Amino acid sequence: MNDNICEFKDILNKYREIIPEYAADVLENEPMSLHTTFKIGGNASVFLKPYNASSLTRILEAAEQSGVRFTIIGNGSNLLFDDQGFNGAVISTEKMNSVRFEGDVLIADAGAMLSVCAIQSRDKALSGMERLYGIPGTVGGAIYMNAGAYGTEMKDIVVCTEYYDAAEKRIKTASNAEHKFGYRDSVFKNKNAVILSSKLSLTHDSADDINSRMQNFKSCRINKQPLEYPSAGSAFKRYPGKYTAKMIDEAGLKGYSVGGAQISEKHAGFVINRGGATASDVLALIETVKDKIRILYGIEIECEIIYVK
Ligand SMILES: Cc1cc2nc3c(=O)[nH]c(=O)nc-3n(C[C@H](O)[C@H](O)[C@H](O)COP(=O)(O)OP(=O)(O)OC[C@H]3O[C@@H](n4cnc5c(N)ncnc54)[C@H](O)[C@@H]3O)c2cc1C
Repeated sequence: MNDNICEFKDILNKYREIIPEYAADVLENEPMSLHTTFKIGGNASVFLKPYNASSLTRILEAAEQSGVRFTIIGNGSNLLFDDQGFNGAVISTEKMNSVRFEGDVLIADAGAMLSVCAIQSRDKALSGMERLYGIPGTVGGAIYMNAGAYGTEMKDIVVCTEYYDAAEKRIKTASNAEHKFGYRDSVFKNKNAVILSSKLSLTHDSADDINSRMQNFKSCRINKQPLEYPSAGSAFKRYPGKYTAKMIDEAGLKGYSVGGAQISEKHAGFVINRGGATASDVLALIETVKDKIRILYGIEIECEIIYVK
């Protein structure tokens, strides 16, 4: 363990002694394969799970003070960690997951799972989350990515988001417009910031109708997606005016493998881990697909999965 990490841990230990509300689980040499839906990735030097926003901001301060690099993880459902892992601190929002309602507004901590938000909204006869129900991510990760499915994106329901601006060292609020949402894009991709919580605007509807829509969307996913294998969802972004998965299929790449990574035979847009896949396998497979699509269609498709090293 390098000197910076030791200093970082010393500062965290001091917080524990002197700040009563400071609470975080700290794991060392933690395999990222345990924290990503791809089940791939080497060890993070330190893996932290703060219990509240003030503990999270303390951790960020400690990282800056000791010169330790950090990255944030929600449910790890859009991430590919390098086989060498992450030399620094991976900060998980897993423990910051409370959900509450004020009228027809849902207020969710960054680590709340979209599926939990959808279920609780349905139970309150509030509509707006049902199309996002099957996305295996957190509210923070979904805002960062502007996740969406079946015609609803986060941009359609976000009222405002509270975040910690690590550059300015203070908590700020972004209005919907300030998120600069785009296709799988938000302002947070270009900000040194951590999403803490968000207010989502829902509308009243019958709980039974909401539930039946949720079950329909869930069935669509089960029928079309290779949910029986670890993956990070759609590996490639949509190309304007084209279906990326269809092009990959037409290129004859369904079932094509590199090591344990494979283009799903069920859905050509998914790269799956058939067992023992490494990050290198996935990266090589993705490059092969991009090359073939460039040659056949003369276009450059973009990877949606975020690679972290
Ligand atoms: C089977 C499957 C199906 C999927 N279906 C869909 C789908 O239909 N539509 C869709 O859009 N996506 C889909 N995805 C992809 C993924 O679930 C979404 O992108 C999801 O929103 C990611 O959330 P997460 O919490 O897992 O984020 P992570 O994967 O943990 O992180 C994603 C990015 O967000 C950043 N981040 C996470 N939390 C915070 C925070 N609090 N503050 C700042 N940055 C943060 C991370 O640093 C990282 O860069 C699917 C994935 C799988 C495995």
